[in-house]
Formats: sequence, C-alpha cells, structure tokens
Amino acid sequence: MNRVYNFSSGPSVLPLKVLERAQAEFLDYGNSGMSVMEMSHRSPGFDEIICAAEQLLRELMGIPDNYRVLFLQGGASTQFAAIPLNFLTGSKKAQFVLTGLWAKKAHAESAKYGDCEVVASSADKTFSYIPAVGPDMVKPDSDYFYICHNNTIYGTTWHTLPETGDVPLFADVSSSILSERMDVSRFGLLFAGAQKNMGPAGLTVVIVRDDLLGHKMDICPTMLDYKLQADNRSLYNTPPTYSIYICRLVLEWLKSIGGIEAIEQTNRKKAALLYDYLDSSKLFRGTVAEQDRSIMNIPFVTGDEELDRTFVSGAKAAGLVNLAGHRTVGGMRASIYNAMPVEGVEALIQFMYKFEKEYH
Ligand code: PMP
Repeated sequence: MNRVYNFSSGPSVLPLKVLERAQAEFLDYGNSGMSVMEMSHRSPGFDEIICAAEQLLRELMGIPDNYRVLFLQGGASTQFAAIPLNFLTGSKKAQFVLTGLWAKKAHAESAKYGDCEVVASSADKTFSYIPAVGPDMVKPDSDYFYICHNNTIYGTTWHTLPETGDVPLFADVSSSILSERMDVSRFGLLFAGAQKNMGPAGLTVVIVRDDLLGHKMDICPTMLDYKLQADNRSLYNTPPTYSIYICRLVLEWLKSIGGIEAIEQTNRKKAALLYDYLDSSKLFRGTVAEQDRSIMNIPFVTGDEELDRTFVSGAKAAGLVNLAGHRTVGGMRASIYNAMPVEGVEALIQFMYKFEKEYH
C-alpha cells in the first residue's frame, strides 16, 4: 500500500481506520449478507446507521434538542437556494457578509428571492481577511444574517462570531464543521457538505433550529423543503445511504480519539507548525491576515508563479499531493482537515525547508 499525504480541499483525506473498517464490512455488513450500498433505506439495518450517525453528531457537537439534523443531497451549493426558499419569507430581507466565492454564490442565489443586502466584504484585498461587523450593522427585521464560517479557498475563519441579536445567524461550515468547538445555540442554521471533515461527497448535513421551520415559500421544491425533510427524518426519498454510513464511521472515529476537544487541540498544533514555519521562511509566506487565519486551509505563495508550480509538482513527486491553490487564486494551499495526521504536516514542512534551501 502506498498512501500519500493528501492536502486536497475536498473531497479530502479520510481516516485510514475508517477506510479499513469500511473495507472489512464491504461485502457483508453486520451479517446481513450484503453491502450497505445494497441495503434498502427503509430496512432496520440502515435505520440503525442513520440514527447512530445523528446521535453521534448530536453528542459530538452538543446539538441542543430544539435543533433538527438533516442528511440531504445536492451539496452545500443546493443549500444556497434552499435557504431563501425556506426562510426568506418574513420581511423578505436578509444580510450577507462576502468573505469569498462561496459566500458570494450563496448571496447571489438568495438575491433571486428577496432583498439581500451585502453588509461587508473583503473583496478589496482578495478576501484575505474577515471584515469587521458590529451589532449596529444588523437590521433587526432581517430574516437571517449569513456568513461563510471558514473560507476554504482563501484560508480565513470567523474566530469571533458576529452579534446578530434576535436575527438568526446562518453559517456555511462546510470546511470547519467538527474541527473545533462550536456553540450551536448561537446559530439558526448550520450546513456543511460532508466531503471535508465528515465523509465522502454526496451527503450534506443541515442543522436547523426547529422554530424556524414551516414558513417556506409556496414555490419551494418539495426536496428543498427542510420541514418536510425533518418530518420524514431525511427519508422522504432515498438518501445517500453509503455516504451516511461512512459519515457514521467518521463520527465513531472522532469519538474514539476524544471528540472535538481533542481534535481541535491537534488541529491547532498542526496549523501552528505550518504557520510558524511560514512566518520564519524567507521564501514562502502566508496570504492571510494573522488574526483571521484558518486552522483547516492554509494558503501560501513564494511570490513567483513559476516557482509555485515547481513546488507543487516537486511536492507531488514526494508523495505530498493536491497542494495547488484554488484555480481562481493560484499559489499553494494545504488543507489539513481532521484526518490529516501531524506527521503529514511535518512531512510538508520538511519538504518546504529543503525546497527553500535549494531555491532561495
Ligand atoms: N461552501 C464551502 C465553504 C466550500 O468549501 C464548498 C466547496 N468546497 C462549497 C460551499 C460548495 O460545496 P458543494 O460542492 O458541496 O456544493
């Protein structure tokens, strides 16, 4: 077996223990004589899997009882549309902070259905920081206030959440869910594509406060109706069964290593190793304002695009793969999600050190 260190932003590295367990159970899950892939989503066997996944997620994140957990499809991008269709129905006004491409896309989708104000943006500096948002900027009649919690492409995170008072705070946590403690009660809605910290692509998790449900637009497509999905325990139609099963294994793995508190410590250690190296390097530099740095996605550059390409291909040859930055920004990006071991980050730093010696 020749596994590489995979720094992909998503789909991304999964814990080896999870892959091994899935492999062991692949042909005959729990003495059923079939793979989870071949099971009816209405069978007791699958019911146990989806219930366990929800229970584990509730336990790990400390999700209060008045929140519903949905296991949906369509990726995070489909939720950009589902959000206005379900919630932009009171004053028909919402507020957005533009901190990157994903926040912009969410805003553009919502703006099709109502008055969606851009409260602040960091577009002026290629989204390399999180703009300041004071409570005075929040309009009390907004149906929701929207942020992208961790900006996968640019490597910024909201380390302090905006104070939105009674206006429900909605957050895209696709690249930060399960990476650090989050106070779910601060949010009206959280959602995440699973393909970074939770499992394979194909599954999207939505966590929503139940009093917000039940006010959808008449035109809301049935499949995007969160209340209907909640009432049907995410089994209105066939859910992404195998992705939910792997998600359950990932959550079991996370619990077995000490839960979110433990993984947060490891994540902070990994990020500090890389940032410390970047701050001391004479060749490489991070691209993000120090106070807003993400612990999941760490972009960096040499300042020379040709040299960046040489680095990415050299790293690949050394078994450190998917280090090219997003196609819209270039440079490099190391995504160091929960399943990336400390050794992977150490191997990257060692390679960078050698590269710097050779090219600086
Ligand atoms: N939001 C964030 C923060 C992301 O990083 C991504 C994808 N990488 C998306 C949304 C889009 O996710 P999907 O491909 O699941 O629609």
